[in-house]
Amino acid sequence: MTKRSHKALIIGAGIAGPVTAILLKRAGFETAIYEAFPYSNGIGGGLQIAPNGMRVLAEIGLADDIKRGGSICESIDFHSQSGTALGSVNRDMERRFGQPSVSMRRAMLNEAIVDKAWSSCVEVHFEKRLARIEDRPDQPIVAHFTDGTSAEGDFLIGADGLHSVVRRHVLPDGPTPCDTGLLGFGGFVPRSLLEAAGAGPSLSMTFGQTGFFGYGFCGPDANNGAMCWSTQPAHGIDAAAFRAMDQAALRQHLKRFHTGWHDPIPQLIDALDEIIVTATLDVATLPTWSRGRTLLIGDAAHATSPHAGQGASIALEDAYRLVRALEDEVEVGTAFQNFERERRPRAERLVALARRNGNQKREFSRTGAWIRDHMIKLMLPLNPRGQDWIYGYDVRDVSARPQTSVRRDRLAA
Ligand SMILES: Cc1cc2nc3c(=O)[nH]c(=O)nc-3n(C[C@H](O)[C@H](O)[C@H](O)COP(=O)(O)OP(=O)(O)OC[C@H]3O[C@@H](n4cnc5c(N)ncnc54)[C@H](O)[C@@H]3O)c2cc1C
Repeated sequence: MTKRSHKALIIGAGIAGPVTAILLKRAGFETAIYEAFPYSNGIGGGLQIAPNGMRVLAEIGLADDIKRGGSICESIDFHSQSGTALGSVNRDMERRFGQPSVSMRRAMLNEAIVDKAWSSCVEVHFEKRLARIEDRPDQPIVAHFTDGTSAEGDFLIGADGLHSVVRRHVLPDGPTPCDTGLLGFGGFVPRSLLEAAGAGPSLSMTFGQTGFFGYGFCGPDANNGAMCWSTQPAHGIDAAAFRAMDQAALRQHLKRFHTGWHDPIPQLIDALDEIIVTATLDVATLPTWSRGRTLLIGDAAHATSPHAGQGASIALEDAYRLVRALEDEVEVGTAFQNFERERRPRAERLVALARRNGNQKREFSRTGAWIRDHMIKLMLPLNPRGQDWIYGYDVRDVSARPQTSVRRDRLAA
């Protein structure tokens, strides 16, 4: 495969898939996205895109829409279970990094990205669940879907998330996602509840003895413009068992779990509209991200647990850097290897960081929790620029790019 004008098949219309398609289209590739689920504008809970991810959204002209549809987060404030302030991080992000951190509903982000793909003339096919990939020499690569249909292209990008089917093609005997033993319970609440509690434009994160609780604004909507979530050790009960409970039972569970935690946590649990339960899995490392004309990106390549708030942002970075790699190198397999060589160290470092952060949300003894809280209080001010490597990463920065064997000039020749 040595021609740039050929067609990319992209599996998954989550975050990485449509953004890759938009950028590929802009670079002159034909693109088509295949998504397992029907089109829906009501999916998922809340999330935050950090400045490094917002830069990619700015590149595709979506940053302002996302800031309007979400809520700019001006700091992350840490508290103990009783409400004692432990410190703040991530202040002044927009001035320091050119873009702010923005909290939002996943549904708002997804709708904006998919609309942008449509308006960029990307083909987006819903209800097309990939079943298997056929890759024969001198033939187009073929994606076979569970409904019996298929699609042909010149290369295939697996942006199909944590439980990637494309990963099974790239690594038939490769590792499966690792369950980190933590569960997430989240949902939306009215903005007025946080406003009444005097909350500012920040995310509040409370480290308790038995788990964790976070909350903050996530959009302008009065009814569901605030989000909150609880993180707890699974204690042998998996996410499926909790999902089988009705909402009243889930609410009771959360109320019991967070009894005695500081205000407004009990009030937020009472006000949660629908409680979404998630397992917390990650993919720390894979032997390779590509096989022939097929490449994994985003969670399919390096799923991270949510405790660094970076999975979506690095999926966005992947989209941008992959298209640059394909522009720089005419041979697709080599471009994929260049992409992986550049991206792997950063992605794996973030997956590991998220895993370590998650360890602070497990169950502690009373003394252990006291020591942790005091460590947070002492350590936070010591290294105010300690996270700059995450947020300061600029996908457009040419110095971040590796030496590639074939450059743009060969394409032009
Ligand atoms: C509770 C929770 C909170 C999080 N919070 C944050 C946060 O605050 N900030 C952050 O940056 N990240 C966060 N993350 C991580 C973030 O959601 C992911 O890293 C990000 O969504 C990865 O994007 P992606 O495009 O690679 O995969 P996804 O967004 O998962 O998209 C994959 C898409 O592929 C589709 N698909 C799957 N299988 C197939 C198939 N066989 N055929 C066709 N389509 C298929 C799926 O339906 C989906 O639409 C959070 C994750 C969780 C679970």
